[in-house]
Amino acid sequence: MRLTGIRKTFGELVALDGVDLEVPRGTTTVLLGPSGSGKSTLLRCINLLETPDAGRIDLGDGPVDLGGILPRRTVRQVRSRSTMVFQQFNLFPHLTALGNVALAPVHARGLSRSAADELARGLLAKVGLAEKADAYPDRLSGGQQQRVAIARALAMDPDFLLFDEPTSALDPELAAEVVAVLADLAAEDRTLVVVTHSLAFARRVADRVVFLEDGRIVQDGSPQDFFESEDPRLRRFRDVVG
Ligand code: ATP
Ligand code: MG
Repeated sequence: MRLTGIRKTFGELVALDGVDLEVPRGTTTVLLGPSGSGKSTLLRCINLLETPDAGRIDLGDGPVDLGGILPRRTVRQVRSRSTMVFQQFNLFPHLTALGNVALAPVHARGLSRSAADELARGLLAKVGLAEKADAYPDRLSGGQQQRVAIARALAMDPDFLLFDEPTSALDPELAAEVVAVLADLAAEDRTLVVVTHSLAFARRVADRVVFLEDGRIVQDGSPQDFFESEDPRLRRFRDVVG
């Protein structure tokens, strides 16, 4: 995936000021940066939860212009390629874990109910929740709910998985379960873009660290580049967060 010249304003505020980002297939990119630097906005632009003012996205089959009013077909096409996992898990409370994971395959991918259930069981097993298939969200811990949300995202079979602070609503030990699942996904051939405040996560899982400040990419390189950079903005961030 390649983003070029992504610009997004909210009134006077420039949230993204011409962002260029390349996310190679099969890699894990961690987006870091101070609060308000534009990390969530950038993720949201990738699957058009926000419409950029200008910029292009290439998801592997040619550049698509994202500025201005987009045809519905374009929106659908771009959206279908990535799935977002949010900080708040947003599971449907009236559906079991299995029901939550199986819903989209039936409605968006046209799988039969039994094929979707089978897929969902496999994905719940993958995130370590095989035995919780019939549990409703209010009977699951936060970490378990987030793992169901990850299984649900995987059920869409997206090319790109986008995570916006997937562990920040969780206590440390529950966050650790979720980080373990993310690390497994990163070790597979999946393409992940993860916004986090966790330097430990970046150190452990990232192939690449991208640091945003004031809507601009300040640093884009290996984790080692990030952790060793003498740039005062990165040093300050590492001191405050780490
Ligand atoms: P955090 O680490 O706190 O989640 P962030 O890096 O994700 O921060 P964004 O949420 O992308 O930051 O916000 C970037 C800037 O855009 C901020 O100044 C924010 O106030 C502004 N912003 C984001 N969404 C909107 C919106 N819907 N309307 C107006 N301003 C917005
Ligand atoms: Mg954010």
